[in-house]
Amino acid sequence: MAEFVSTRDVGGGEVVNYTQAIVEGLAPDGGLYTPVELPEPFSWQELGYMSKMTYTQLFTQVKSVLLGDDIPPIHLADITNRAFCTENFPEAVNCNVVPVEQIGDTNLYLHDLSGGPTAAFKDMALQPLARELDYVLGVDSAMLELLGATSGDTGSAAEAAVKGLGALSICMLSPKEGMSPFQRAQMGILSGGNVTNIAVQGDFDACQDLVKDTVQDPEFATIGAVNSINIGRILSQVSYYFSGYFQTVDGIGEQIDIVVPSGNFGNVLAGHIARSMGLPIRNLIVATNENDVLHELVQTGVYRKRSRTKPTSSPSMDITKASNYERLVYQLLGNNPERTHHYMHQFATKGVVSFEDYGMPADTLQRAGFLSGMSTEQDRLDSIRWTHETGGQIIDPHTADAITVARQRPCDVKTLCLSTARPVKFEYTIFEALGIRPSRPDRFTDLEAQADKKEGAFITIPPNLDVLKRVIRDIRINRPQ
Ligand SMILES: *Cc1c(COP(=O)(O)O)cnc(C)c1O
Repeated sequence: MAEFVSTRDVGGGEVVNYTQAIVEGLAPDGGLYTPVELPEPFSWQELGYMSKMTYTQLFTQVKSVLLGDDIPPIHLADITNRAFCTENFPEAVNCNVVPVEQIGDTNLYLHDLSGGPTAAFKDMALQPLARELDYVLGVDSAMLELLGATSGDTGSAAEAAVKGLGALSICMLSPKEGMSPFQRAQMGILSGGNVTNIAVQGDFDACQDLVKDTVQDPEFATIGAVNSINIGRILSQVSYYFSGYFQTVDGIGEQIDIVVPSGNFGNVLAGHIARSMGLPIRNLIVATNENDVLHELVQTGVYRKRSRTKPTSSPSMDITKASNYERLVYQLLGNNPERTHHYMHQFATKGVVSFEDYGMPADTLQRAGFLSGMSTEQDRLDSIRWTHETGGQIIDPHTADAITVARQRPCDVKTLCLSTARPVKFEYTIFEALGIRPSRPDRFTDLEAQADKKEGAFITIPPNLDVLKRVIRDIRINRPQ
């Protein structure tokens, strides 16, 4: 059995297994579940063998090493096959759902992680995780209601993953104004059955507050949260680092750098785990936009919360703090929950905390193999143009953050830039950069029209807790048993 502990469990070191950790999400003490220890690194010989696997085989291999037998291998393989099937990844060639492509004859390579149902890399983790939850709950004939707030990609990716699964239902709040028509349509077409969309007449913070306040009420205390800190999401992202590496290098052992467009630090943390499992990654390079919490942290060792986000053209990286970073801090502080608790408490109360307060050097993260850079609005437009001119690829603004940061560096080794969304989701920025619109994959051609045709796709409510509770009670009554 793989064991997980909370990063803040100062009490007694209570250990949970993987299935408990993913069903609970957040630990009861407010900490994040994290593996007690990581598996032994793979040998180069084993890596050579893994490099010949399909993505589903590779995913099952890496995941089963991380989970032990918490989910029996035969079920894990079945979950994986369904999560990464052709129906979910219709543009995949030869079943490669995460293809790598060189940019012209440069040292830069694009790793496409956005071929899933909602055209953003959130699918890579949510597709398998929802099925794992469905399997785990199904064993006990249990049900789980999920409630979440979204202002962008997570909402549709979570709904697409949960849609049609028997043990799960999901209710997603989003601000009535503010999301792009494409994002709204992506969610709207999923309404019905076990998926409910609620448009709140308020902003994203109002949506988040409603979620928090609802689950405080004992009547709704069993509702699970959809958020970016579930350990199941992180562990589902480790395998594409292996695949990306194998597709990029000439031989096992070659060192590469990987640039990760980052917000909540989930993606890059998965890369760190892949490196700890023996993958020859030299630097993990954190790319941010103007919301540069993580860039400051890597450069100065100071973790400083921002009072508000600056809206940018790469909105999924607009963050005030980076929740998953707590898992790395725990490791850097010697797997010590007391120190982690203290560090996070200082961050929560003062809004700032530094390594030097803990007797550690300011460049602790750089010593641990992390570098960083940031981009501006203009940089992203330039990088979209540069990539199009150099290699012919059209990239989205999040990927452009990574390309910008890669281009700021010498690139003395092959550099893999993670591509986290399809440009079709950000047509306006692409048009601004290139004067053309990205072509739409067939499955999205009349998305907005389809959503418009759908009656009652969104239930509109004021930002009022009692109204929301009434809606949730109605959903419970009307749910097919
Ligand atoms: C969520 C997201 C990111 C940021 O990933 P983190 O794991 O939060 O660092 C980057 N790009 C896109 C398109 C995303 O949806």
